[in-house]
Amino acid sequence: MKFPASAICIIATIIISCGKSTDYIVDKSYQIDDKNSSRGQNERASSLIFHYTALPFEESLRVLTAGAVSAHWLVPENGNKIYKLVDENKRAYHAGISTWKGRTNINDTSVGVEIVNLGFMCLDGNADCTKEKRKWFPYPEEQQTLIVELAKDIQKRFQIDPLCVVAHSDIAVGRKSDPGPLFPWKLLAENGVGSWVTENEIIREIQNINKNIHSDISRLLVQIRLYEFGYEIKNLNVSDNFVLDKMKKNYGYDAKKIQISDLSALSEFNKYISDEDIFDPKLTDQAIDSFLMHYLPEEYLSNKIPENKKILATLQALLIKYPNRARIGCGF
Ligand SMILES: [Zn+2]
Repeated sequence: MKFPASAICIIATIIISCGKSTDYIVDKSYQIDDKNSSRGQNERASSLIFHYTALPFEESLRVLTAGAVSAHWLVPENGNKIYKLVDENKRAYHAGISTWKGRTNINDTSVGVEIVNLGFMCLDGNADCTKEKRKWFPYPEEQQTLIVELAKDIQKRFQIDPLCVVAHSDIAVGRKSDPGPLFPWKLLAENGVGSWVTENEIIREIQNINKNIHSDISRLLVQIRLYEFGYEIKNLNVSDNFVLDKMKKNYGYDAKKIQISDLSALSEFNKYISDEDIFDPKLTDQAIDSFLMHYLPEEYLSNKIPENKKILATLQALLIKYPNRARIGCGF
């Protein structure tokens, strides 16, 4: 038996509805048509930020649920349970005043993961101390596994750029030290989350630097690379565009089209401008500390600042291994 299309529709409407009426979801006073989808869209979260709570588990959970501070996830020290405190589609309040790759208010665009870890104790018995007097609490193996498994899932969901998986200390330079130098960044990178370079990759870049630059590595060169990498180290009265324009006008170097291998051109920059014209010396030192905690933790823990050449080589190796988009933020 054959029905005309409209008749089929009438019959089908009784069961599932069809035709024009199915194009719309009726929602009180207006209708929503969700059949079309824009190409121009991306995930809200384009970075993944790790923290430690500096508190035991019960207190961590209480602070992160009862107060103004929050995070999407809380990872306890042991067991196999991870606490979801804020839906990833919503904003959590974990980063505070923060910048990374020129973007501010990182809460808006990140997933925040808090790890139960006491941070550090001061060997002199004070509540706070300089880094030389800090004894850091390790992350137990069981907890490291939880961190890796959770991070892999977040990475899968949001396809976060490796250089946008960072520490609270990276995005809040001088203000924060978490998750500290014992955080398992290397293990994470081995599992496809975030970034890491090996000693051999750093040595290769030291050789490259030795070949291309015949003078001592200047602080300015390190600062330019730190800045390109994402650290907010410029003088407050200097705009992002000012820095980029200076680089371009003075020696044709376009930081937006980063040429990582062009070290000799970069070193010429010293002739035109002094480091303190652009970069804040205190913020620079603090950013170097953050960078060491993340990428050269053994150097950080040894309390010796490595020479500029090693810092530069590590930055170079990272930028080559994970081609980034200079000061263009995460998720653009
Ligand atoms: Zn934090």
